[in-house]
Amino acid sequence: MEYIGVFDMLKIGVGPSSSHTLGPWRAAQAFLNKINNQDISLIEKIRIDLYGSLSLTGKGHATDLAIILGLAGYDPVTIPTNQIDEIIGRIKNSKILEINGNHAIPFFSEDLIFHKDFLPEHPNGMRITAFYSNGLAVSGTYYSIGGGFILEEGVDASSAQTHISEVPYPIAFAEDILRHCDTLGINSKISDVVLANEASLQSLEEISQKLDAIWQVMEDSIFNGCHSEGFLPGGLMVRRRAFDMFSKLKSPVLNYSEKDDFLSAIRSTRMHYREIFSWVSTYAIAVNEVNAGLGRVVTAPTNGSAGVIPAVLFFYQSIENHKSTKEHIHRFLMTSAVVGSVFKRNATISAAMGGCQAEIGVSSAMAAAGLTELRGGSPKQCLNAAEIAMEHHLGMTCDPIAGLVQIPCIERNSMGAIKAINASELALAASDFTRVSLDDVVQTMWKTAQDMNSNYKETSEGGLAVSVKCTDC
Ligand code: SF4
Repeated sequence: MEYIGVFDMLKIGVGPSSSHTLGPWRAAQAFLNKINNQDISLIEKIRIDLYGSLSLTGKGHATDLAIILGLAGYDPVTIPTNQIDEIIGRIKNSKILEINGNHAIPFFSEDLIFHKDFLPEHPNGMRITAFYSNGLAVSGTYYSIGGGFILEEGVDASSAQTHISEVPYPIAFAEDILRHCDTLGINSKISDVVLANEASLQSLEEISQKLDAIWQVMEDSIFNGCHSEGFLPGGLMVRRRAFDMFSKLKSPVLNYSEKDDFLSAIRSTRMHYREIFSWVSTYAIAVNEVNAGLGRVVTAPTNGSAGVIPAVLFFYQSIENHKSTKEHIHRFLMTSAVVGSVFKRNATISAAMGGCQAEIGVSSAMAAAGLTELRGGSPKQCLNAAEIAMEHHLGMTCDPIAGLVQIPCIERNSMGAIKAINASELALAASDFTRVSLDDVVQTMWKTAQDMNSNYKETSEGGLAVSVKCTDC
């Protein structure tokens, strides 16, 4: 059983989707590694076959673009996101793909095939094949299993993974988290357990730097979303709303000149209690507009749900606790991540497997736990908050219009963030006792996922996606 760490659950990437953009991008990079020991100068042609959900919603989720960028040698963490349109435009216009940036081959739209059928192993399947001038053909079949994770058919990845027994406090279920907190002693927090596990694999300095980098991207995505106008790509004509929402909220008192002043400027505003939800919604919507625009966000635990955790943590920093520190940010992220890992291990974080409850529901549960810890909740109360947040997302379907991660996705992040805050309040108002445990609700979510009709699992063949047509998408 593999260890699922903080940096598995929170990853820097490019929007709009972790399973349909980041995962396929990683698969293309894995394919480059696979053919590394062949002479790539002999490659004459590359063919990409997309299956199931990757095919049905692949265009809207930029699956095709992600694979092309991956094969061209770009990395989702480092690619300048403002250059993506230009790079893709160059490849499409020239019909030339430079494999790994150094071997040019002809590349036509027919080389990327969208199949209607599903591969039997997983709804998100894809195959890349390289054809060589000496008659050799090398293929890799990959499954994008949610949150940017991929599996390659026929490859046992377990030897490359950290085994759960290699960390001092192995966590498979939520009950393990509580047991380890008890072992660590009175007043120990969930983030103490998580930190101890991570510290057994890397230095404290590395952990701190990685958490800082994650928060930096989250904060940037809030800022960028609040300062970007216009329409989102894809033809659905969705107008960016965070800019207007932010402009209205800040008016007329918010003055700042640089991004660095952003947080303190918001902290200095006097807000009416009714505005608090508007601020939280603005933060969440800002991030997911950046995501929908192929911008840089943190997969938390997916890209479609990337706005929930930053919105709730920025709410804590900007509104609830003006004295919050870097340690608060780190603790929030660590506690959130371990809750997400329990869902990933025992249910799913893939909408193609479980609908939107697996994305927004999980991110809301993660954020609820993190916030509850910062508010002084006990480990039990943190997990109760996560349970409450998921309990009220159970059954939520995934039905993005035109396969674009825009409607209902962007607003859904604001709803997930608000529910997380409320779940935290409900958990803190109650005793440690709960009738439904987090492990119970994880199992329930998984059973609900299995019962859910495939039309509602990121195929755009049900729900809003069929009720609302987009003629220009
Ligand atoms: S509906 Fe939910 S799960 Fe589906 S793409 Fe949108 S955010 Fe992701």
